[in-house]
Amino acid sequence: TDRGHLNFIEQIVEDDIASGKHRGRVHTRFPPEPNGYLHIGHAKSICLNFGLADKYGGKTNLRFDDTNPVTEDTEYVDSIKNDVRWLGFDWENELYASDYFEQLYQFAEALILKGLAYVDDSTSEEIAAQKGTPTEPGRLSIYRDRSVDENLDFFRRMRAGEYPDGAKVLRVKVDMASPNMQLRDPIIYRIKHAHHHRTGNTWCIYPMYDFAHGQSDSIEQITHSLCTLEFVPHRPLYDWFIEQLNIFPSRQYEFARLNLTYTVMSKRKLKKLVEEGHVTGWDDPRMPTIAGIRRRGYTPASIRDFCDRIGVARRDNLIDVGLLEFCIREELNKTTPRVMAVLDEKPLKLVITNYDEGREEIMRIENNPEDASSGERDVPFSRDVYIERDDFMEVPPKKFFRLFPGGMVRLKGAYIIKCDEVIKDETGEITELRCSYIPESRSGSDTSGINVKGTIHWVSVPHAVEAEVRLYDRLFSVENPAADERDFQELLNPTSLEVVRAFVEPALVDASRSGSLTNVQFMRKGYFILDADSTPERPVFNRTVTLKDAWAK
Ligand code: ATP
Ligand code: MG
Ligand code: MG
Repeated sequence: TDRGHLNFIEQIVEDDIASGKHRGRVHTRFPPEPNGYLHIGHAKSICLNFGLADKYGGKTNLRFDDTNPVTEDTEYVDSIKNDVRWLGFDWENELYASDYFEQLYQFAEALILKGLAYVDDSTSEEIAAQKGTPTEPGRLSIYRDRSVDENLDFFRRMRAGEYPDGAKVLRVKVDMASPNMQLRDPIIYRIKHAHHHRTGNTWCIYPMYDFAHGQSDSIEQITHSLCTLEFVPHRPLYDWFIEQLNIFPSRQYEFARLNLTYTVMSKRKLKKLVEEGHVTGWDDPRMPTIAGIRRRGYTPASIRDFCDRIGVARRDNLIDVGLLEFCIREELNKTTPRVMAVLDEKPLKLVITNYDEGREEIMRIENNPEDASSGERDVPFSRDVYIERDDFMEVPPKKFFRLFPGGMVRLKGAYIIKCDEVIKDETGEITELRCSYIPESRSGSDTSGINVKGTIHWVSVPHAVEAEVRLYDRLFSVENPAADERDFQELLNPTSLEVVRAFVEPALVDASRSGSLTNVQFMRKGYFILDADSTPERPVFNRTVTLKDAWAK
């Protein structure tokens, strides 16, 4: 049968179901370490794990891989749960590797009893030196032949807190000559007198990743344990523990990490960006974190769509961030109301001299030409309107379809106007345009017979609400900052944030106060979202993405 539509993991799952393995059961897990906020790379793993379970009638656990007390925190646990839910997924069980500490300890004793684990007093430097290099066998530790009784006694005393950090470790006896360095008697327990965010001071020895992860999978009877490619060399050890302990045979499968252009994706680097103040926090809209891109205005559906489109690869690759931007544009184009906002520190005031001062009309403007059901809104119009300074040129080049002296444009949803006079201050700066409007040209009932090439957006001066607009761009100016040796300072895009003043339609502010405003399109300017920094007096908008790919030019 043709299985070209399945990714390689789905093919494995379908084979397992067909062969009756685990009676067709599919149980995955998403195993974050709570030492930072989730990023878009994690979103890929979440979509994959939850997506597989959904597709094959299975279940997915959310398991916190919290075996390193020093770097972990409940703040991260809470943010992770929030982000997974926001992406649209619901877990079967909320579990913690730390809940298995006693069981893991018992597994370790079982290995000691089988003669497969020993307490080693070597320093970490000595252990590293014993391991040697992949091309030559390692050296055996002088502690490797301790008796079972001795090992059991020392291990119990490690647990009891008799030794300081680093004094002893528990290692497993696998193969010091293996070309796979992971198998050269890896450490499975170390002493760490540290407070754990869940177990407090109950433990002063903690299991290493390799001794916690696979066993946790097995305890939960996970059928397909999906992880990223750097764990390929860990797989033999994963299988070895399962075999030696004779426990449920979870299997590990590896896929390529998601890397995105113009950003970094490791929690360590993201944390550094936060700590060094290059961004305002984990949820800075320039961050590739779920919290950051949510605040930027991305939707859960756009991120799921992106994860679908990139698919599941077996080789590491670098995905163009333009694809992520494409996904959000596709969605917002269909769903967002259009509104008018003039984004300008010094917008240009246009005075319509033949329109009575104090007169006001309400224009009805469609919310979204892509969505007939989206209706219309009221937009007040008056004698004085703001336009973008860019929409006027005193000496226009050819094919300039916006406003110039003697030229005509349509004010979107309102009238055709003509520029009669340019007013300047003593420095020569244009302060005002004097215009006249064509009364018969009102949108929807235009009988003027005049055809104009350009339509520009505007905001009525007496009705305009001042807002702050944050124009975000790529955080880094190099395509692959993770592969660049230079310091952040040299790699960051100096113009990744530009803050401008804007004047917006009053309807937008009413919607924002009522809480009904989510994503909007500022006509001709891009997609925006209201930011949490807004106050009732001064809304703040974040630009999610421009209307077109400005970088493709
Ligand atoms: P980081 O290096 O960013 O800290 P991590 O792998 O240490 O990532 P974990 O919290 O351990 O972070 O990851 C939880 C799960 O998400 C793991 O299964 C991991 O393989 C997966 N994951 C992490 N980063 C990516 C990525 N860039 N692409 C796909 N999956 C990822
Ligand atoms: Mg990890
Ligand atoms: Mg990490």
